Amino acid sequence: MDLAVRTTTAEETRALGTALAPLLRLHDVILLTGELGAGKTTLVQGIARGLGAQEHVASPTFTLVREYVSGRIPIAHVDVYRLDRVQEVVDLALDELEDGDCILIVEWGDAVEELLPEDHLVVEMVTTDPAGFDDTRAISVHAEGAGWDERADELARALGPWGASP
Ligand code: ADP
Ligand code: MG
Repeated sequence: MDLAVRTTTAEETRALGTALAPLLRLHDVILLTGELGAGKTTLVQGIARGLGAQEHVASPTFTLVREYVSGRIPIAHVDVYRLDRVQEVVDLALDELEDGDCILIVEWGDAVEELLPEDHLVVEMVTTDPAGFDDTRAISVHAEGAGWDERADELARALGPWGASP
């Protein structure tokens, strides 16, 4: 299923992430795509807040993976920023997923869906005004797999306040 929403401030994007958090289950995989500054890390801050994680959430660009373990479900947060490290990050991410009892959130410049398990969420974030006068982000949420089919209604309800429309 696909849903389209919009936020107009960073805090609104965090609130959207927080609204998503109650739906999340162990071993969920979320891929965040969009250019640098689109708001991917900001969304992760909201998800972490919604899960009750106390850790500071920042871009894992230099550390490859950051873990926030103090919430309802631990989060492994990965950023594929430098292309020369894609393979390294993919291996790391898949290890995290196989070994870890966590949710995996990957920030990526482009969707690389074939690397993901069948069940996953892809969130694409687009800055609508590159000049920066308007902070609106167009956010499309693509939910894939049986695990998300079960949660389709709940997902649409959770994103309703931001104008979710299929
Ligand atoms: P990314 O991880 O995609 O590179 P970040 O989340 O690190 O992006 O940065 C997004 C920047 O844009 C932050 O400085 C944030 O405050 C700002 N911002 C402004 N409006 C929004 C919005 N609607 N949603 C998300 N971030 C926004
Ligand atoms: Mg980021």
